[in-house]
Amino acid sequence: MATSLREPVSAFVALGANLGHPAQAVSKALTDLAQLPHTQVKAVSELYESAPHQADGPMYVNAVVALSTSLNAFELLQALQAMEQQAGRQRSVQNAPRTLDLDLLFFGHAQLSSAYLTVPHPRWQERAFVLLPLQDVAPERVDAHMLARVADQPIQRSVSVICDSK
Ligand code: AMP
Repeated sequence: MATSLREPVSAFVALGANLGHPAQAVSKALTDLAQLPHTQVKAVSELYESAPHQADGPMYVNAVVALSTSLNAFELLQALQAMEQQAGRQRSVQNAPRTLDLDLLFFGHAQLSSAYLTVPHPRWQERAFVLLPLQDVAPERVDAHMLARVADQPIQRSVSVICDSK
């Protein structure tokens, strides 16, 4: 990966999986994120279990991770997509079940809008499975109004998944 050296930036990535072995997929993704070049994991949320959003299928395992990275936003997204591919991700219909989904929520103060990359992620405030784990690692980014708007979305902190993933 060709990388120009830059000041590290805070980036937040949402992880989700609901096919195969979701807890293991999320756990492996956390390990792989820690091994990305020029990147440090600063904080990892609790794991959550959530019902699929506007879709059918098994429950998701979700988490959010805070990174410090000198990759640029495009390099980081490319690395996330390579990890999705490695996990066997098939791109079919929108909201289809997936072995691993990695969304770049924020990249420093960057505001980018293209089909390939939009940050802040356009739907981050719509999803309980983003807001609750994000609150664990960046409480200043989540407020009570946001949480009230997603209060009808089934989600719980996952004791069983934490035990299973050990
Ligand atoms: P999804 O199926 O939800 O994983 O969406 C993946 C598609 O969204 C890919 O084509 C990405 O290039 C694009 N995309 C745009 N912005 C983002 C973002 N902030 N994080 C992840 N994927 C993004």
